Amino acid sequence: MSDALEPVLVSACLLGVECRYDGRHNKDGVLERELASRGQRAVPFCPEESGGLPTPRPPAWIERDSAAAVLDGHSRIVTDSGTDVTPQFRAGADAALALCQLHGIRSAFLKERSPSCGTCHTHIAGSLTPGPGLTTALLQRHGITVTGIAGRRE
Ligand code: SF4
Repeated sequence: MSDALEPVLVSACLLGVECRYDGRHNKDGVLERELASRGQRAVPFCPEESGGLPTPRPPAWIERDSAAAVLDGHSRIVTDSGTDVTPQFRAGADAALALCQLHGIRSAFLKERSPSCGTCHTHIAGSLTPGPGLTTALLQRHGITVTGIAGRRE
């Protein structure tokens, strides 16, 4: 009776999908068991692939300030060689929000440190920095609770 389970959004890489920038995953068995024990159903999603970026892809980060600044048009997301990938990251964030709204999702479990999925930490100007990534910031603006998951637990 999977339809009775509460749907929650989960970074696809935490579920073993090899969608990281380097073509690897962050599969987290502990998270999967916790979701099952709480009666939650994981809806896997990768904002960066959804936004049209290939895997593997160059590492990217928020150019300056914060994810909120990107959402408000005052900053960008760039690759390590300076290519502007803001449109792809924004498209992925918008698609994540649309998926949550479609399924009535109120909670998300996203991969820490990512420029899309980070919750407590993300990458800004090439360094790990406190603050959310772009998808997390957008979901939080719309009242969705996001929990950061480090990943790679057996
Ligand atoms: S952290 Fe998010 S954007 Fe990065 S690979 Fe995982 S699901 Fe995709």
